[in-house]
Amino acid sequence: MINLLDLSYSELEAFLTERMGLPRFRTDQVWQWLWQKDARDFEVMTNLAKPLREKLAAEAAIVWPETETVQVSRDGTTKFLFRMADGKLIESVLIPMQDRYSQCLSTQVGCAMGCTFCNTGLMGFERNLTQGEILGQVLAARKYLEDNELMPLKSLVFMGMGEPLLNFKNLVKVLETLPSAKGLNISWRRSMVSTVGFPEQLAEIGERELAQIAISLHAPTQELREQIMPKAARTDIKDLIAFLRDYPVRNRLRLTIEYLLLKGVNDQPEHARQLVKLLSGLRCKVNLIAYNPTEDMPYDAPSTETVEAFQKILWDKGMTAFIRRSMGADIKAACGQLKADAQK
Ligand code: SAH
Ligand code: SF4
Repeated sequence: MINLLDLSYSELEAFLTERMGLPRFRTDQVWQWLWQKDARDFEVMTNLAKPLREKLAAEAAIVWPETETVQVSRDGTTKFLFRMADGKLIESVLIPMQDRYSQCLSTQVGCAMGCTFCNTGLMGFERNLTQGEILGQVLAARKYLEDNELMPLKSLVFMGMGEPLLNFKNLVKVLETLPSAKGLNISWRRSMVSTVGFPEQLAEIGERELAQIAISLHAPTQELREQIMPKAARTDIKDLIAFLRDYPVRNRLRLTIEYLLLKGVNDQPEHARQLVKLLSGLRCKVNLIAYNPTEDMPYDAPSTETVEAFQKILWDKGMTAFIRRSMGADIKAACGQLKADAQK
């Protein structure tokens, strides 16, 4: 049966008018029930007559992901493990900011990229998530925040399980659905897609202003990138950076470069100097992330001093570099960690 959360606005309109024989104005009403009023069945849609609600229920469903577990960290970071209709598990994390939450979303079950430091990569690729499964994470988390009278959800990062640009069709659909004023109402400025970097898909995101982007670079040279993220490195680092130099970025906005620091691998002063050179002239900010260690992985976390020394080299050359705090370490909030545990 069709899950209405999988439909774009125009697909919903076609479904309601062509298949259900309804007038066009019904689309707004149903859309609002789905995306603003947390409807999970048709019974609650009281502005539709009862026979119509029954007819809809016979043809369609509204399927949210099931919340398997919720873990709240000491710092407020909240991690959900969601079960999809076919039993697959994915995770999503709410990150508390000053006056709001930001949510980290999964876009695939597993990931085909196999980065050597990543738990999701270790699982391999299972399948893509649909629009309803990606935005269902938002609906469930927003409801959780409302029920617990917590701060509102205001921004999204596509940094959970999976490589968003390898689920591009559904990602674009999601990014087109998000800003709808009668729906989730989240502007492209408040959603950030994180990727190892596929120029063709990035170009579309940039030209159409579908989201902000963050590039998981993690290495300053092609050689080192090949070593730690072999599949991602099929796009040559020089070509990737050259592409980013032409990427359309609005005034006052900047590209985000993510750099994961792995002890003794890519965290030395020499790597920082190489990074400065590689990124020179690129309007970007660099987020330094200390590796969040998990068992069975061949890497260790760098010391705070090493991370700060790395940052200082970037600063001294006039670059903007932040150290991204590792949130929710006590609940294993890094990519893929909770699911890895649940499967043991
Ligand atoms: N596939 C996309 C988005 C999901 S991964 C991407 O790679 O950008 C989101 C981020 O989590 C990436 O920057 C990834 O490198 C990082 N990450 C993966 N495993 C991690 C770990 N153990 N500790 C810290 N960050 C990790
Ligand atoms: Fe996939 Fe991103 Fe993990 Fe690499 S870091 S394996 S691209 S989820």
